[in-house]
Order: sequence, then C-alpha cells, then structure tokens
Amino acid sequence: MRSDAREHPSLSAAALEDLYQSGVYAKRPLTLVRGLGARVFDDAGNEYIDCVAGISVANLGHCHPRVVSAIAEQAGRLIVCQEAFSNDRRAELYRRLIAVAPGALERVFFCSSGSEAIEGAIKFARLSTSRPGVVAAMRGFHGRTLGALSATFEPSYREPFEPLVPGFSHVPFNDLARLEAAVTGETAAVILEPVQGEGGVRPGQPEFLLGAQELCRRRGALLILDEIQTGFGRTGKLFAAEHHGLDPDLLCLAKSMAGGLPMGAVLIGPRVGALPRRVHGATFGGNPLACAAALATLDVLAGERLPERAAELGARALAALRSIRSPLIREVRGLGLMLGVELRIRAAPLLQKLQRRGVLALLSGTNVLRLLPPLVIDEADLDSVAAALSEVLLEEEASR
Ligand code: PMP
Repeated sequence: MRSDAREHPSLSAAALEDLYQSGVYAKRPLTLVRGLGARVFDDAGNEYIDCVAGISVANLGHCHPRVVSAIAEQAGRLIVCQEAFSNDRRAELYRRLIAVAPGALERVFFCSSGSEAIEGAIKFARLSTSRPGVVAAMRGFHGRTLGALSATFEPSYREPFEPLVPGFSHVPFNDLARLEAAVTGETAAVILEPVQGEGGVRPGQPEFLLGAQELCRRRGALLILDEIQTGFGRTGKLFAAEHHGLDPDLLCLAKSMAGGLPMGAVLIGPRVGALPRRVHGATFGGNPLACAAALATLDVLAGERLPERAAELGARALAALRSIRSPLIREVRGLGLMLGVELRIRAAPLLQKLQRRGVLALLSGTNVLRLLPPLVIDEADLDSVAAALSEVLLEEEASR
C-alpha cells in the first residue's frame, strides 16, 4: 500500500480515485452509489436522471429486478465455464441471439467488451477473405485496443499510439462515392456504425448503408456493422440494422447486452468462411453469469417492448428538444433514444450545469450534447431533461 493511502484512510471516494486512477479518465465531481430505473443517486442522497446510462449500457434501467435475480440465481449455480465445455445458459443465448438477429447471421462468438468484439470481427474478416484491408468512416468510433483503434478515426486517440495496424483507411461517412473508390480487391471489410455514437450522434443514411452492403457483396468484402452503442433497443428497433433491412456479415455487440455485466459478441453470417479451431478465443467469453444476464435482458426488452418504447419516447424527446428556441442550438438529431444536440458552442460546460439541475448527460465530440437515457425512462423525466436543457441554454445565452 502506498503510504499516502495509509495516511488518508478517510479520504472520500472522489479523492481516492483522483489519487490512484491511471489518469486517462476526466472525472466529474460526483460519486454515484446507487441506481434504480432511470435514476442514479450520489453519496449525499441526491437524485439524478441518468442520460449517460453507462454510455448506453443501462438500457433496461439500473438494477432491473429481472436482471438482478438472474445474476443472483446464476451466481449461486455456476459462474465459470470455459468454452471448451458446453453450458445450458450459453447454449440458450446462442439460440436466442440468432433468433432475434437481423439478416442471415448464424454463428456467435462471445467476448467481454466492445473493443474485443471489433478485434474478433476484424480477425474473422481477414481470415475469411485472405485480404488485409479495412475501410472505416471518418468520425467513426470502434474502440481503443490497437485493432479497434486502427478503425477509429479520431486523430487524438490514434496518434499517440502509431504505428497502428496497417491496411486501414477512412472515408467520409454517408459518402458512397468515396467508399466506392476506397473498397478494392484488397479490402477484407467495411466497418460502419449505423448511427455514429462518439462522432456526434450522426445517423447513417439508408442509401449509404445499403449501398455499402451492396458494394461489399460486389467486391467480395465483408460488411462489419458496429451496433455496440445502437444495439438492444436503443434506436427504436432491437438492432438499428432493422431500420434499413441491413444484412451484415459480422455484427458487433456489447454495452447493454448483458444488462450491465461486461459482455460482447460477434454474430457471424454465411459469407464468412469456416473459422478454424483455435484461431481466436477469450477466457471470459460466454461465461454463464453474463449469459444468464443477457437472457434476462432479452426477456425484458421483448416483454416490456422497450425498442418500441424507445421509438415512441425518442420521437417525443426529439420534438421537445427541437421546440427549444435557442440560438446556441445548431441541430437536434437522433434515432430512438439516441439523441444529439449539436451546439454552436463547446458542450462540456453545459454538463456541469445540467448536473446541478439533476440531469446527467454526455458529450459526443466537442460541441454535441448526447442523451442516452435508459429505455425505461418515463415521459415526465424526459420532459424534465428537455426543460433543464432549455434553462441551461438560456442561462448560457444570458452570460454571453
Ligand atoms: N464501438 C462503438 C460504436 C462504441 O460506442 C464503443 C464504446 N463507446 C466501442 C465500440 C468500444 O466498446 P468498449 O468500450 O466496450 O471496448
């Protein structure tokens, strides 16, 4: 133990995290200790409407009783079961995921995070096509491990770690002509988010997404769809691919997949060849605890019609946000409950002001305020979020 920890046994959680965190996280001055539905509570008992939701992890809300009891029950039965052995919960999850997956997806690889799902998809695409290239989109975000980072666009995330994996290029999102020009006989895959999440909440145009799919088919490349942020009801469908009838070759999932437990997956379609034994793997992949939580998550999404709810509430939220008359707003956009408010000013200072009004929100880039509330949020809370933003923008305007 470092001596300063012994010297300060009574430091607050925030002070301890400041002292010991790696340094890579910008921390907000708030210590959260409990969550329930769309609300979280700090260590002083204050309540917040949570439009962060762990960055689209708590789609079912915090501590959904079905997920809590599935985890508790499975934890008492079997937590660890490596994929060398079969397991009842994993087998059922394979079956259920394929049953609800878009397009013709037919096989599943489990892992424990979004980046890990992207790594798997890139490796499977290279293996299957025997080609090295990957074409991604500008403003795209696919994670921070070296392969996933090579597909991510943001230069400030990439540059400190170069050289990255060779063979990656980026074209403007929603520009089919530029994509046409970039996909060659050396391209293993095109990787896209159906709605760019970290890059400013930018929905992909149907012609672009479907055109990318058709182009991949024509040139013998695979389409990797990154639904890590958009999946599991967030955009008003179980998967955003359903909005456009997309049929991806590799579908990457994570975030809210297991109701908040770490879990990721790559769903694999028929155009991906057979994957030889031992070419890839993950110690924690498909562990029964995460699988049980994911099964409960799928039950709740269907039973409570949460994708439909996200579509309805998303339309209501877009209307409420668009009715805010502020010269500081450039555009309000989104799909389902994946909402972005693009501002003419930096968005960061607004987060703190919203927090003071009991609303937790996210950034997406420098000037987009992003709202990703749990899909169980009620209408009144959603209206309160729009009202809080309206107040904060008025205050901001007055101070200029
Ligand atoms: N892809 C997308 C679209 C994401 O939004 C994220 C996380 N924000 C990732 C990949 C990476 O996921 P993880 O942080 O679980 O590695």
